Amino acid sequence: MFKVVLIKGDGIGPEIADAVVEIFDAAKIPITWIERQAGLNMIEKYPSGIPEETLNAIKQYEVALKGPTTTPVGKGHKSVNVTLRTSLELYANVRPAKSLPGVRTRFDNVDLIIVRENIEDTYSGIEHNQTASVAQSLKLITRPGSIRIAKYAFEMAKLYGRKKITAVHKANIHKLTDGMFLNCFYEVAQDYPDIKANDLIVDNACMQLVTNPERFDVMVLPNLYGDIVSDLCAGLVGGLGVAPGGNIGDKSAIFESVHGSAPDIAGHGVANPMALFLSSFQMLQHIGLHKTKDRLENALLETLKDGLKTRDLGGKLNTKEFTKAIIDHIKPMAFDEMKEPKPLHILSELLPTYKKVVEDCHGVDVFVEHPDGIPTLPEKVGKLKLKMISNRGTKIYPGPLPDIWLVDHHRCRFIARDENGELMNIGDEEIFNLIRELSLRKIKWMHIEKLQLFNGEVGYSNAQGE
Ligand code: NAD
Repeated sequence: MFKVVLIKGDGIGPEIADAVVEIFDAAKIPITWIERQAGLNMIEKYPSGIPEETLNAIKQYEVALKGPTTTPVGKGHKSVNVTLRTSLELYANVRPAKSLPGVRTRFDNVDLIIVRENIEDTYSGIEHNQTASVAQSLKLITRPGSIRIAKYAFEMAKLYGRKKITAVHKANIHKLTDGMFLNCFYEVAQDYPDIKANDLIVDNACMQLVTNPERFDVMVLPNLYGDIVSDLCAGLVGGLGVAPGGNIGDKSAIFESVHGSAPDIAGHGVANPMALFLSSFQMLQHIGLHKTKDRLENALLETLKDGLKTRDLGGKLNTKEFTKAIIDHIKPMAFDEMKEPKPLHILSELLPTYKKVVEDCHGVDVFVEHPDGIPTLPEKVGKLKLKMISNRGTKIYPGPLPDIWLVDHHRCRFIARDENGELMNIGDEEIFNLIRELSLRKIKWMHIEKLQLFNGEVGYSNAQGE
């Protein structure tokens, strides 16, 4: 028997979780449910809504199926999902989007899987007000994080028999961050010659998704684009009510419906269990029980083809009636259905996390607050010479002032060059001297960035017009 932690959650959670358990029991699937608590009823005792023993059970049994949990607004309550995602390092958010019979949408031939990096990007949540009117969010894309998600996407594609993976990005604008994500994707792709690898810019990907979604197979995306595009894809196949998902880490994986706890219908017995049921298919695939997944999926598809569905999808059935309808369509277990489950895990420690490079620092960007036009700065301090000033990414000095709207936040680039005009290495002391000089001149600076080469490659972007 394979052991899976079951968290029923709250709101409609227990109703839909009971439906899935009933179907698994009827199908005689050898899974033992280890029931643990999380959600609203736990929040008085545990501010995160998750008792330690629930977290420990997921770590111990490695796989969990979870119903939705309510996040109370205000009062500083954290979301159960965010806590689980971060404390278990569930780095891959996997969301299949597949057209279903009887679920009315614009397309009937969508069958794609979104693999979203779940931890990095702007979701690191590192934000600062730079001035009273300029805010900054750090978009952190890492090489190990990008390699890991690409590796997961290719391994998953191999396991599921998928043929093509599209990396989605905005590397034409975010050349360094999304550029790194894309480079890592193609680096990993070389190990999977049987799977076609291509890439698309995110805006183009969205346009193609809403016109020709059948073109897509597996898509891998950084966190923010993944968040948005995965909901777009859910919309292509009938909305969040039929959208399953999995959050997968090195050691543990949690599968759950995308929708919430639906407090408006909780306890009425009308909730649609389909999204959680579809999530359980992902769970079965994750642990390697592909034939079992196919058997349950066939039962669901046959049920829907017979026009049997819940009220949210325009049907007449309540939760129990729909559950029974699915059970009535289950075929007996095939002889070779059960084999030793083997969960799909990528072990981060086996992936390269550190790339040894030669770093040369030859300058610094100093970010300065100045409300009226171009700030007056020293042209040279020690070896560092003022090269340019930009405002919201456009060069405003030297040269003619472009006809743009100026805000009170300036990037002032200082670079060291030798007498031949070649870039010259500097030590930290040169930067300290520059900052000291700016402070003495009462120039308000709020942060600095070193300008470096990594193995000879420039590690910073140029301003528009630089
Ligand atoms: P929701 O998804 O719970 O409900 C939105 C609408 O869809 C409601 O009208 C609801 O009745 C309907 N609906 C949702 N699931 C349904 C189902 N299975 N069958 C039939 N109808 C269904 O979104 P919300 O109201 O914004 O959120 C409610 C709570 O759920 C919030 O506290 C939110 O934080 C939480 N939430 C939890 C998760 C999760 O645990 N994974 C995800 C999203 C939201």
